[in-house]
Amino acid sequence: MNMLARVRPDLAGFQPYASARRSGLVGTIRLNANESPWSGDGCPTGFNRYPDPQPLALRSDLAALYGVAEDRLWTGRGSDEAIDLLLRGFCRAGRDNVVGLAPSFGMYRIGAQLQGAEYRTLALRAEADFALDPDRLLALADADTKLVILCSPNNPTGELHHDAIGHLAQALAGRALLVVDEAYIEFAGIPSATALLDRYDNLVVLRTLSKAHALAGARIGSLIAHADVARFIGSIAAPYPLPLPCVAAAVAALEPAALERTHARIATLVAERGQLADALARLPRVRRVWPSAANFVLARFDDGPAALERALAAGIVLRDVSAQPGLDDCLRITVGSPYENEALLEALA
Ligand code: PMP
Repeated sequence: MNMLARVRPDLAGFQPYASARRSGLVGTIRLNANESPWSGDGCPTGFNRYPDPQPLALRSDLAALYGVAEDRLWTGRGSDEAIDLLLRGFCRAGRDNVVGLAPSFGMYRIGAQLQGAEYRTLALRAEADFALDPDRLLALADADTKLVILCSPNNPTGELHHDAIGHLAQALAGRALLVVDEAYIEFAGIPSATALLDRYDNLVVLRTLSKAHALAGARIGSLIAHADVARFIGSIAAPYPLPLPCVAAAVAALEPAALERTHARIATLVAERGQLADALARLPRVRRVWPSAANFVLARFDDGPAALERALAAGIVLRDVSAQPGLDDCLRITVGSPYENEALLEALA
């Protein structure tokens, strides 16, 4: 079944805003967008014009990077925007629900809440190393479930859940989208779920340049899905999501030489992750460090708040995730540079 049948019914036949850049009209004198005819003082050329909604060069670079056809890809302001648009486009307020993991990335719950959709979670147990039983996740889904969100590697646990993707996508076929958030996949050393897109038309993969590609400040995320789903998401997005300087930064980061340096940085970071996890596990007041496939590690301390304070006293900021179910005394620690990791270990020793 075409997954567009699961779009909010009140959006059936939705006519997107016809922005000037979408018109397809070409001319040398552009008087159709109420732009300034002059460049602003000190601004690069072209900044007086609205940007392309989906810049051709960026789109083709991203499609090549992710190994997918261009019509499967929509790119916007971080994967955060893609998550928001999926919720807004598919979930009826007060009726539909979204299924996810707990603990997991906080924006799924917030986005669902903003849309008025119920957010149901399957609790993953720290004692079981956050192992996922996909059938228990499926048991939470019903006729009003529009999205099942699987974050893999999961934030903040670092656990991979890729083994479950095929089974989940199959079981949800025609009913709900399986959204696999792969924000950290580059650190995992396994293939992306994009390889499965041909098999499941209800599969959506989220990728980002924010982590491995060192471009969190440029806010470039991609939604990769069946072409109909990608097109629909593009149609409900704000007209010009991608600022010119961000697009330029992303295109530069995707040049072959830059990509080579990125791969080297990923390898360094993965090696650092192993060393940091081992060193943390040897500290006396650390109870557990979970294996991580991402660029952070989750650690449980004898006294989480005290560890947070000790780090802060040394000017080091860590993420307190202890409010999430089952994560008492746990901190999420981003793998930093060798210097930063050393400083942290010293502060915690
Ligand atoms: N998904 C996950 C799992 C994340 O951890 C984050 C960032 N914290 C995002 C998505 C959002 O990333 P982006 O910068 O692409 O919006």
